[in-house]
Amino acid sequence: MMDSDQTALVGRSFDNLWDSLLPIGRDQRTGGYRRFAWSAPDREARDWFHHAAATRGLPVEVDRNGNLWAWWGDPRPDSVVTGSHLDSVPDGGPFDGPLGVVSAFCAIDLLRAQDTGGPSEGRAHRSVAVVCFADEEGARFGVACMGSRLLTGVLDPHQARRLTDADGISLADALRASGRDPDQLGRDDEALSRIGAYVELHIEQGRALADLDSAVAIGEGIWPHGRWRFDFTGRADHAGTTRLADRHDPTLAYARTILAARKHAERLGALATFGKVVVEPNGTNAIPSSVRAWLDARAPDEATVEKLISALTTASGAAVDRESWSPEVEFDPSLRARLADVVAAVTQPASSSPRAAPPPHRPTVPILATGAGHDAGILAPIAPTGMLFVRNPTGVSHSPHEHADRADCLAGVAALAAVLEDLVGGHGNG
Ligand SMILES: [Zn+2]
Repeated sequence: MMDSDQTALVGRSFDNLWDSLLPIGRDQRTGGYRRFAWSAPDREARDWFHHAAATRGLPVEVDRNGNLWAWWGDPRPDSVVTGSHLDSVPDGGPFDGPLGVVSAFCAIDLLRAQDTGGPSEGRAHRSVAVVCFADEEGARFGVACMGSRLLTGVLDPHQARRLTDADGISLADALRASGRDPDQLGRDDEALSRIGAYVELHIEQGRALADLDSAVAIGEGIWPHGRWRFDFTGRADHAGTTRLADRHDPTLAYARTILAARKHAERLGALATFGKVVVEPNGTNAIPSSVRAWLDARAPDEATVEKLISALTTASGAAVDRESWSPEVEFDPSLRARLADVVAAVTQPASSSPRAAPPPHRPTVPILATGAGHDAGILAPIAPTGMLFVRNPTGVSHSPHEHADRADCLAGVAALAAVLEDLVGGHGNG
């Protein structure tokens, strides 16, 4: 439990980090964030990370793929890693990603204030790293979790270097412009060997916790999900002179496909979204020659996603190409149970000595599966991995309206600190 001094300290620490990060990459007109990978705002956010680490005396290492690691204790195998990302979707909210990074630094501040024997005091078994993964959202180059996919080797570096953004700039060139060597990209066994466990705190991207009256939840797993490109071809023509019967207008097939996606998603208990579309030649008085649209599809299991894609491929008549795929992830069950016990003890202070004597009934911290992808999902096959979710009262995310209450964020910090303390084996017990 935090005493009042520690509560005040965590609040100050949180406010300082949050207020200094908030202006970076925020669009004045929409209020949303545009921190795209390797852009100027992204570099500014990365500088912020270096500064936050430096003011805490935590040395930062940058791995081959541009992921940032701030170390409390020596970088060594079997460390406890926590963090998230700082990049955003177009007009994203302030919490998706940054809350995990800010909470990680705050949790270290709290553990130091509690003097429970952290890595730098030499009494813990394991070091702690705060990680900021590069390009989690994939907003610029189209592949989500790029930093962690490259780190773990599930994304081919040759393929990654050739990815281009909307202006035709390749990832290789974007990296060079940020002072990084694109030839360094690829699986990083040294960085991987240091990950003994990974716990990512993230704002909830739905409103399950709002209904459960709980500030924090434990992640159960991540739905399988992917991105598919649909190419509809037609023939460009004059909007004013071409008879309706003579047109080859690809937007009609596209429109039918959007409605089919909704219908099949409802039938199958899946989610389907056409959120991005490119129309050629994109003129008001021209019948389009082509429509290229991207489908994001997710479901609780892989067979359901396959059924959905197969139904839409048939219904659309389009050329369909899968651009990315993330298999179903179940977070490590024993780590999940451990997180649930630890988090219950800090979020449910009814018991007089929660650590020493577990309550007779099993503590109840909500366990949530999510349809959102995270770096934690990419790391799950590498090391025991878990997530903490902080309540989002409206459930809105990937939007400037995304919000979490400060009190819930601080509850998240307390939960994360307790988890880190438990995992590093502090208290001099060894
Ligand atoms: Zn995120």
